[in-house]
Formats: sequence, structure tokens, C-alpha cells
Amino acid sequence: MRTISSHSLVEQLDQLTVTGTFFEPLDGNRVKCYACAHQCVLKPGQRGVCRVRFNEKGVLKVPWGYTTGMALDPVEKKPFNHFLPGSLTLSFGMLGCNFTCEFCQNWITAQAVNEPYGKVSPYYLQPVTPAEVVAAAIRNRAKAIISTYNEPWITADWSEAIFTLAKKKGLRTGYVSNGFATHKGLDTLKPNLDALKVDLKCGTESHYRELGGRLADVIDTIAYAQELGIWVEVVTLVIPGWNDSPDELWAISRSIASISPNTPWHVTAFHPDYKMQEHPPTSPDELLKASEIGQEAGLIYVYAGNLPGRVGSLENTHCPQCLKPVIIRRGFTVTHYHLTPDGHCEYCGTPIPGVWDTEKPSARRFAF
Ligand code: SF4
Repeated sequence: MRTISSHSLVEQLDQLTVTGTFFEPLDGNRVKCYACAHQCVLKPGQRGVCRVRFNEKGVLKVPWGYTTGMALDPVEKKPFNHFLPGSLTLSFGMLGCNFTCEFCQNWITAQAVNEPYGKVSPYYLQPVTPAEVVAAAIRNRAKAIISTYNEPWITADWSEAIFTLAKKKGLRTGYVSNGFATHKGLDTLKPNLDALKVDLKCGTESHYRELGGRLADVIDTIAYAQELGIWVEVVTLVIPGWNDSPDELWAISRSIASISPNTPWHVTAFHPDYKMQEHPPTSPDELLKASEIGQEAGLIYVYAGNLPGRVGSLENTHCPQCLKPVIIRRGFTVTHYHLTPDGHCEYCGTPIPGVWDTEKPSARRFAF
């Protein structure tokens, strides 16, 4: 564990904290945090691997009361393809992460506390209340509120406050996450968490160790969240020369298929970012090859993302029975929608797994 540092951003964040709920008190004023699978045991004065949660005199202080940004995003941008397709979500984020991925595509916020020369100034933190986040979602006709931009597990207490209120107002909720969770954390969140996008970054424990995580815990999160009835989609950023070997892609695909072949798997294109500048961007051909592996492994809903218009029909949802496209997309836009309000194929009546809205995607986001 790290001791509390004098980093100005970290000090500023320490002021924006409250006593958390995702922890157990231990003897000697120690605490055990179970917000993520690191399950840090902290003595007074120590902070967790994520650096934004710390033990202060025997209680766990956790991030609270700010965002580094709120935005209205298409749900397809998360990416979710079977969760309220064609709708807008209110996305919010805080700072910090429990992994240290060199290819992080959200590093400005997620790795802010690890980057003394990062781009986040303390003045960038916007004070906000859970009621204000929910009101913003309703005012902007969002169907769901999503915790994203940084790792949601490490700020679970704050999102739980927002989601509790959001559910009372009829909104759906979701996490865009690395899936490094605990059963106890998921049990706590479940009543107010509808959807979980898990970034399954690679298929081997040795690769996961490079990121500061464990493959087995991420696979377990996918399985347990599904068992709890949370809607789960999985995404893998395909990085040429790092996780794109057929062996690794087969390992990833088989793991997901063995939990449920109905789990949507998104393979998305990497662009050089943060500390991984030497690997080239992913080509459409590489995404097509990864998708084929997923389909051969038995996954029914495989999507290729981040390269709109360059991956054939892999942006669309097909009915597994009659094979017709029931949702046609271009990038983040739904252009055609052929599901009944309860998620059956309009052509043959086959149910498509997911979370559907009784209203079809809004006309505003259709391009007929
Ligand atoms: S969220 Fe994870 S990394 Fe942070 S203190 Fe809790 S267990 Fe440790």
C-alpha cells in the first residue's frame, strides 16, 4: 500500500471524500475495502492501490461530490448494443483507476492521480450532487446514467448514491468497467445496477499482471454479474502485437462463450495513446479475423467497433434464427430497428437477449 503523498491533485481529491460503505472495519483501526478485487487492507494513513480511497483514523474515506465531466452519449459509444439501443445516456466520471494499462484510452482522467504532469487541474473538478446528476439526465431525455471515464468500482459509493436516486425516477443505470470486482461489491450494487460493460483486455494471467489485475477475477465478475441478472456486454480492444495472437483471441472468446454464448462481444480498434505509442492502429482486417474467432468459438453476437463503415455487417445485430439484420448501425447511430418492444425479431418472433425499451429508438437518432 502507498502512504498519503503530497501530490496537489491527490490532496485536492482528499478533500472531496466522505466515509464510504464498501468496506469492513478490522482490528487495530485497519479497514478492508471490497469495492474492487484488490480488496486492500489498509492501516490508518494508508491509501489503496487506486490512491483515491484511504484509511483515516479507522474509516475508509472515498471519493464524493464531484465529476470531471458529464456528457450525453449514444449508448452505442459505451459500447452497449443490446441495452436500450438508439438511446442517449448521461455519462459521468471521476478520477483514478485500479489498473495501470499503458494503452489507456481515457488516461487523462483514469490515470490522473498517477501522472504528476497529467492534464487534470484541481480546478477541473466540478462540484455536483446526486440529485443534480439525475436532474440533468431527465432534463436531457437520457434513458440511462452511466458511470464511465474512470474506473467505476473505485468510486462505487458515489455512483451508488446517484443510481439509487436514478432508479426512483425510472432511469436505467450502468457501469463501463474493467470488471475487476468482488461478489460483495456486486451484491451491494445489484439492486440499482442494470448493465455492466466489461473490458476483457486479454486472455492470459501474465498479460493481466502487466496491467495490475487478474484474469480470473474479471471472468468471475462477468459470470457472477450475469447470475445476478445484470445485463453484461464484453469488449476487447484489439492491440496489434500485444493481445491479437489467435491463441489469445481464442482464449478470450472461449472464456466468454463458456459463461454464455449470448454475451455480446465487441472487438474494437486500438489507436496509439498514452504510453503505448509504438503499436500500430488496428486494421479492419484484424477486427474481422478477431470476430471470426469469436463466432467460431460459439459467440452469437459479435461486433466490430471504432471503424464505422469498414467492417461489413459486424456493426449490426442479426436474428440468430432467420439471420435478418434486426438492428442496423453505422458507428454510434441506429439506422434501422426491427425488434418488437419486448425485444423479439419482427420477422420471425425469435427473442433477442438484452434490455429493450418499449419505445423504438427516438426519431432524432434515426437516419431514414
Ligand atoms: S477500490 Fe480497490 S484499489 Fe481502491 S482501495 Fe478499494 S480495494 Fe483497494
